[in-house]
Amino acid sequence: MSRLTGGCACGAVRYSIDAEPTFSFHCQCRQCQRATGTGHASLFIVPKVAVSVTGDLTYYDQTADDGATVSRGFCPRCGSPMLGNTTGHPDIVLITAASLDDPTQFKPQKLVFSKTGQPWDYIDPALRDE
Ligand SMILES: [Zn+2]
Ligand SMILES: [Zn+2]
Repeated sequence: MSRLTGGCACGAVRYSIDAEPTFSFHCQCRQCQRATGTGHASLFIVPKVAVSVTGDLTYYDQTADDGATVSRGFCPRCGSPMLGNTTGHPDIVLITAASLDDPTQFKPQKLVFSKTGQPWDYIDPALRDE
């Protein structure tokens, strides 16, 4: 039984996750801003073993602000960002919150990389990392 399901905008790629998120956050690093085209990425972390994907993702490798290599997986047809892997933590997968079928399942706990946050990107001050 999958607890979390989601996919891209066009439906070519779907995933299911048989686990609860271990951490949920907003990231205002510049790489997340570029990858999403907006002020931050909203992401949650799940164990890699709990994730199954149908359809083919394209991966783009980026060097994150902390030096790790992050592979960002997106649908090659519609471009929706969905999954991320990082060399810093090979046993986990990052999932984009809005790719969930039910995005209300996302409960952000923290904001990270707020130093590079944009003045127009308002985030609940209670979640700030500094
Ligand atoms: Zn798609
Ligand atoms: Zn980021």
